[in-house]
Amino acid sequence: MKILFVASEAYPLVKTGGLADVAGALPVALGELGQDVRLLLPGYPEAMDKAQIKGKPLSLGNPQGIGQAWLTPACMPDSGLFVWLIDCPALFDRKGSLYQASDGRDWPDNHLRFALLARVAAMISVGGGFIGWKPDVIHCNDWQTGLTPVYLEQWGAPRTPSIFTIHNIQYQGLFDPGVLGAVSLRHEHFHLEGLEFHGFLSYLKAGLVYADHITTVSPTYAKEICHTDLGCGFQGLLTTGEKGLTGMHNGSDYEIWKPTKDPYIPQPYSETQLGKKKVNKKALQKEFNLPCYEDAPLLSVISRMANQKGLDLILEALPTLARLNAQLIIVGFGNPALEECFKSAAASMPKHLAIFLGYDEPLAHRVQAGADMLLVPSRFEPCGLTQIYALRYGTLPVVRRTGGLVDTVTDISDMDNGTGFMFNDATPSALSAAMERAVSLYRKPKDWRIVQRRAMGRDYDWRRAAESYRNLYTRLVKETA
Ligand code: ADP
Repeated sequence: MKILFVASEAYPLVKTGGLADVAGALPVALGELGQDVRLLLPGYPEAMDKAQIKGKPLSLGNPQGIGQAWLTPACMPDSGLFVWLIDCPALFDRKGSLYQASDGRDWPDNHLRFALLARVAAMISVGGGFIGWKPDVIHCNDWQTGLTPVYLEQWGAPRTPSIFTIHNIQYQGLFDPGVLGAVSLRHEHFHLEGLEFHGFLSYLKAGLVYADHITTVSPTYAKEICHTDLGCGFQGLLTTGEKGLTGMHNGSDYEIWKPTKDPYIPQPYSETQLGKKKVNKKALQKEFNLPCYEDAPLLSVISRMANQKGLDLILEALPTLARLNAQLIIVGFGNPALEECFKSAAASMPKHLAIFLGYDEPLAHRVQAGADMLLVPSRFEPCGLTQIYALRYGTLPVVRRTGGLVDTVTDISDMDNGTGFMFNDATPSALSAAMERAVSLYRKPKDWRIVQRRAMGRDYDWRRAAESYRNLYTRLVKETA
């Protein structure tokens, strides 16, 4: 089967969060199942530099009227996965992050940038003489790709079944309806059952309404977005729609997140050599100027600083850290106010708290390897990947009971299966109580090791998720034939 996988980021070319990990790994896992998968990404400068260009760019003309665009065939540098990069300097060649300028505001032309991504996906899907490769299925991911099935519908193109995966329903791609013409959408689609969401044009809703099937990244999040206000206003659409919503949790790329062979960590280790993990802990304490106490529990966070992630709860729970004689390392970036609060907290309790504000992939590996615990106090969490990586590194997760965290972590109260510590309420006191439970187990080294080994043995390989996606594609192809 031929599958076109469309996303706005993919590791190792460009990454701001979990979507990149998924887009870098799931297509590869599908390839290993014998599928012919090609990835389509915007040609950001970083992606153009890192990808291995494999042939002549194909001119796309000036499809949006804002500049010339080319489709450049390339390969991923690690996996060799085929990737098409949309090289459109007017839209993608700029400094700043993928979605925002350096002042933290969304790029004002995001509607054009991601309309181009969706439009090229639709062009490839129509196939014909265009590039000599026509997918049987298109897999779209998040709002940046939501217009793909709308263009196919508008063009009256032969039906290529499409799947739309929600990685985070809070990001809805909302724009003023005045841009409809600029992105070549017909006004007739702008209504309550179409692209309109509370007076705005929503690219997310476009995907939800026009794709043939919707998936999201964990079974629990699938239920939550249908039946609670975590659906962000889309609950009705998701429950009344005929197409159905499937929740399949993400996997981990264990070639990249592998403590026995991780090139980024000072001391590789396995579940039978957990003593070696201490070398990583000491190195991490040193790197962050924390006292190198071997017996001080070392907690960690690797996260975007967005309201979703509940890091403000940690801020309020900091006194617990001192009371437990624990240390905390935070690696994150995002909300400037929160960054400032953590900066001053770190200055006032230097023996207990150290922070790195920014994005650093190798550092995320060193933290996973060196810390004893990973905190994920999210208000909501579609799947979450850091806790899955933490399990493999024997770094026990302390997580809020929500979304994919429920599907991947088992509370320690289940004595035979527990792999971490869960709490219900999004409050500092509930988080503190979970931290206390974690530290009290940590003080019993034999029991701690048993749980570490169990956690390291949990398997969230991509293969299982890839098989479920393949079955879904096969079913859709049959249904739309
Ligand atoms: P989300 O996609 O909501 O940001 P996930 O847990 O699904 O959260 O995925 C986050 C990914 O981004 C993980 O691979 C994690 O290691 C990485 N990450 C998050 N923040 C940072 C950071 N500051 N530096 C390096 N990697 C980070």
